[in-house]
Amino acid sequence: MDSFQGKLFVFSAPSGSGKTTIVRHLLAQEKFNLEFSISATSRLPRGEEVDGKDYYFISLKDFKQHIKNEDFLEWEEVYRDNFYGTLKSEVERIWAKGKHVIFDIDVAGGLRIKKKFPEQTLAVFVKPPSIDELKIRLKKRKTESDEKINMRIAKASIELATAPQFDKIIKNYDLEVAFKEAENLVGDYLGIKE
Ligand code: 5GP
Repeated sequence: MDSFQGKLFVFSAPSGSGKTTIVRHLLAQEKFNLEFSISATSRLPRGEEVDGKDYYFISLKDFKQHIKNEDFLEWEEVYRDNFYGTLKSEVERIWAKGKHVIFDIDVAGGLRIKKKFPEQTLAVFVKPPSIDELKIRLKKRKTESDEKINMRIAKASIELATAPQFDKIIKNYDLEVAFKEAENLVGDYLGIKE
């Protein structure tokens, strides 16, 4: 393939670790020329989420059809009956614009992308201060039931164990510090001098 192939930046972490905030911050830095990989999901929109911006919200039936058609680069049943996946067409769409791709995806999906594109992927794990802090953050968000929050917490403990498999780890204790660390990692990977 002789068309432009950019870099892939994977940001993975347990839900509530602050990785979405870090990804948004990086997207706002024009010098990095990044575009967000919009995942497809079978879950319903939450809060202010917009179809085609935050996610491609599709039915479970359509999601399963995409799996059959092998349209996904990776996909996961992140929570029971809640499927999430990266469409191959999404990466192609972004590369066609001459941009690098940034992903906000779960740990298993992140590692899968790294495996598929080992030479051009930087996989970053965002570590929350603690499981207790994670619980507080998820409760503050007030977008999910206690049952759903407990489900996310249970998954978080398992995900934390995969951190060493990532290229880099950012500890998100202080958001400003985490922003700077993330900027340095992306800048170094792209070979951008300050
Ligand atoms: P949420 O429901 O909070 O938006 O996302 C739940 C989890 O699914 C998060 O950890 C999020 O990063 C992950 N996720 C979002 N998109 C994808 C995707 O395309 N693939 C995978 N494997 N996980 C995703």
